Amino acid sequence: MRLILLGPPGAGKGTQAQRLVERFKIVQLSTGDMLRAAVKAATPVGLKAKDVMARGELVPDDVVVAIVADRIEEADARNGFILDGFPRTVPQAEALDRMLDQKGLALDAVIELKVDEGLLLKRIEKRIADMTARGEPLRPDDNPESLKKRLDAYRAQTAPVTGYYACKGVLRTVDGMASVEKVSADIAAVLDPPSGPSGRPAEKPAPGRRNADGKVDGWPSRP
Ligand code: AMP
Repeated sequence: MRLILLGPPGAGKGTQAQRLVERFKIVQLSTGDMLRAAVKAATPVGLKAKDVMARGELVPDDVVVAIVADRIEEADARNGFILDGFPRTVPQAEALDRMLDQKGLALDAVIELKVDEGLLLKRIEKRIADMTARGEPLRPDDNPESLKKRLDAYRAQTAPVTGYYACKGVLRTVDGMASVEKVSADIAAVLDPPSGPSGRPAEKPAPGRRNADGKVDGWPSRP
C-alpha cells in the first residue's frame, strides 16, 4: 500500500498516518520529521533547512526530493509507505512520479483531509495550548507568525497538488473536521470499498437473476 496524505497544517495528517501505519504495517515517511531530525543532528541539510522551517516557509524542492528518494530506498519502505507532508509542491509531485515510475511502483491513493480554514487556526492554537499544559516541547514553527506562513504556503504551493492528483484520478477527499474516529473510518471506507470477487466495486445483480439454487439473488452482502 502506497499512500499520500494531503492537508494543511493542523488537518490531522500525523494522527491519521499513525493509524494507517498500524493497520497496513507500512512506514510513515514524514518529511517534516526527517527535516527536524536533520536540524537536530546539524547535518548539511539540517543547517540549510533550519531557519526556513522556523519561519514556516518551504524547504527547496531539490533538498526534500533527495531526502525522500533516499528514504524510499530503505528496506522498511518496501512493504509500502504513507507520505505525510510530501509532496508539498507540484514539482515535488512530478519528481515523486518519476521516482515511482523508475521503480515500477504506483500510488494506491492520495487522500486529502479537507478542513475548514476558518477553524484551522483555532484548532492549531488549541493543540499548542494542550501541549503547553502537558509540558510537551513546542516546535520552533509553532507560533502565530510561522503558523500563518505555513497556511499561506499551503494555499499557494500545496493546494495545487490536489488538482494534480485529481487529474490523475487518484484523489480521494475525506472530511477532516470530523472526529478522529470518524475520519479514520472514512479513510478506511475510501481504501477498502466493498468489492465483488473481481475486486471491482460490487454491482447490484440484474433484476430477477437466479442463483444455482434457483433463488433470486439479493444484494451482495458487505464483508
Ligand atoms: P510539517 O511537520 O509537515 O508541518 O513540516 C514542517 C516544516 O518542514 C514545513 O513548514 C517546511 O518548512 C518543512 N517541510 C516539510 N515537508 C516539506 C516539503 N515536502 N517541502 C518543503 N518543505 C517541507
